[in-house]
Amino acid sequence: MAMVVDLHSSSGMDSLLTGQKAYFASGITKPLSFRVEQLKKLHAIIKKYEKKLNDACYEDLHKSEKDTYMTEIGICYMEISFTLKRLGKWMKPRKAKTPMTHFGSKSYIYPEPYGSALIIAPWNYPINLAIAPLIGAIAAGNCAVVKPSELTPTVSAVLRDMLGEAFAPEYIAVVEGGAEESKELLKLPFDYIFFTGSVQVGKQVMESASRYLTPVTLELGGKSPVIVHKDANLRLAAKRIAWAKTLNAGQTCVAPDYLLVHEDVKDQLLEEMKKVGKAFYGEDPVGDEDYTRIVNERHFDRLVSYLKDGRILFGGSSDRETRAIEFTVMDNVEPDAPVMQDEIFGPILPVLTYKDFAETIAFVNARPKPLSFYLFTGSKELEARALASVSFGGGCVNDAIFHLATPYLPFGGVGNSGMGAYHGKASFDTFTHSKSVMHQTTRFDLKVRYPHGKRGLRLLKKLMK
Ligand code: NAD
Repeated sequence: MAMVVDLHSSSGMDSLLTGQKAYFASGITKPLSFRVEQLKKLHAIIKKYEKKLNDACYEDLHKSEKDTYMTEIGICYMEISFTLKRLGKWMKPRKAKTPMTHFGSKSYIYPEPYGSALIIAPWNYPINLAIAPLIGAIAAGNCAVVKPSELTPTVSAVLRDMLGEAFAPEYIAVVEGGAEESKELLKLPFDYIFFTGSVQVGKQVMESASRYLTPVTLELGGKSPVIVHKDANLRLAAKRIAWAKTLNAGQTCVAPDYLLVHEDVKDQLLEEMKKVGKAFYGEDPVGDEDYTRIVNERHFDRLVSYLKDGRILFGGSSDRETRAIEFTVMDNVEPDAPVMQDEIFGPILPVLTYKDFAETIAFVNARPKPLSFYLFTGSKELEARALASVSFGGGCVNDAIFHLATPYLPFGGVGNSGMGAYHGKASFDTFTHSKSVMHQTTRFDLKVRYPHGKRGLRLLKKLMK
C-alpha cells in the first residue's frame, strides 16, 4: 500500500511537488500502457470504496444513494470507460497540412503532458469534481495533486484514503485542507492548475498562476437563466426545471438560477411546477431523511435570507437544525434584490415575467456571461435567435443540466463563468499541450527566404496572399 499523504506545511507540499516532478521527468507516466493501467486502477479503487464514498456523501450532504450514483460515482465510471476506449487514438501524433510556402516539409501535432497538475475541487459534487478532472490528468500522462473541499470533510478523507491506497504520492496525491492549504499549493510551480469553484476565488487562482505563467482551467459559477416561452411544452418544462433546480438541493453550478417566463403562461407553468415538486418530494420534504441538505449553516442562513426578497408562491419551509430547505418558488422579485444578484446555489427559484422575447434576451445579456443557459420553446426560429445572441458556457434547449452529463460535449464557462472545458476528449485536451513540429526536408533548400535571393520578393508575393 502506498503512503497516505496528508500535508499541511509548505515545506511538505514543496517536497511533494519536487517528488512528482522527478517522477514525471523519469518518463514513466507517458506510455499508453501506463496510463491505461492507472485508469483501470482508479476504476477498481472507486468500486472498492463505493460504499464508503456513498456513506460519506450522505454524511456531508444527505445525498441519496441514487443521486450519489447518478451525479458522482456513475459519472466517474462513464468518463473512465469512455477514455479507455479512445485514449490510444487521442495520444497519436496528428498529421497537419503543409502550405506551399513550406514545400518539402511535413507537419505534425504531438500531444504531450504538462507535468504535475493541481486540481482544486469544490464541495457540491465532492467526488465527481475531484475525480473527473483527475481522469483527464491521468489520461494525458500527468502527475496530480488533488485538493478536495474542506466543507465536505468526510468525502475529503475518503478520497485521501482511496487515492492514497491506489497511487504513490509522487504520482497522485491528495492534500486536504481549506483556503490556507490551497493558497500554499498555489505558491508552487505546478505545470497546470484546474480549479472548480467560485468566481471570486477563481480570480485569486488566476492571479497566483500568473507568477509562473501556469496555464489554468477555471470552472466557475454564476447565475444561469432559464427562459420559458409561451409556445413551450409547459408540463415537461415544469418537470425538467423543478428537477434541475432541486437536484442536490439546488447546489449545482449549472442549476437554473432564475426563471424568465412569458407572462401568458406563468400561472400554468407554476401550477405544473407545484404539482411536480409535491410528486418528487412529498408533502414534507424538509422532514425527509433522503432530501439533500444545505452544506453548512452559513449557506443555509444566506439562502433563507433570500426568502424575504419576493412573494413566496409555494414552498418556503426550512429547518436550520437539519439544514433542509423546501423547493421554493417566488415572484415579485426586483432585479436588483440580493436573490437576483448572487448565485443562489439552493432550491429557491425567483420568477420574472416578460412580454417581448427580445426584452428577455437583453436582460440576460446585460449580466455576466452565464455558465449555462436554458430555453424552453417549440420554435426553431426563437431557438436560433437566442443561440445567436447570447454567449454562455453551455446549455440546453428544452432541458436543463443534462448537457453536462455527456462525455461528447465539452463542459466549461466563458467570461465570468470560467475558461477552458473538460469531459470526454476535452479532458484529455485540457491536460495536454499540443506541440507543433515541422519536419523539414534536407533533399533541397528553397532560396526564396534568404537575403538577396533572385526573384525572391516576386515569388513571395505570389505565395503569400
Ligand atoms: P470556493 O471557491 O469557495 O472553493 C473551491 C475550492 O477552493 C475549495 O477547495 C476551497 O478550499 C478552495 N479555496 C477557497 N478559498 C480559497 C482561496 N482564497 N484561495 C485558494 N483556494 C481557495 O467554491 P465552493 O463554495 O466550494 O463551490 C461553490 C462554487 O463553485 C459556486 O460558485 C459554483 O457555481 C462553483 N462550481 C462550479 C462548477 C463548474 O463546473 N463550473 C462546479 C461546481 C461548483
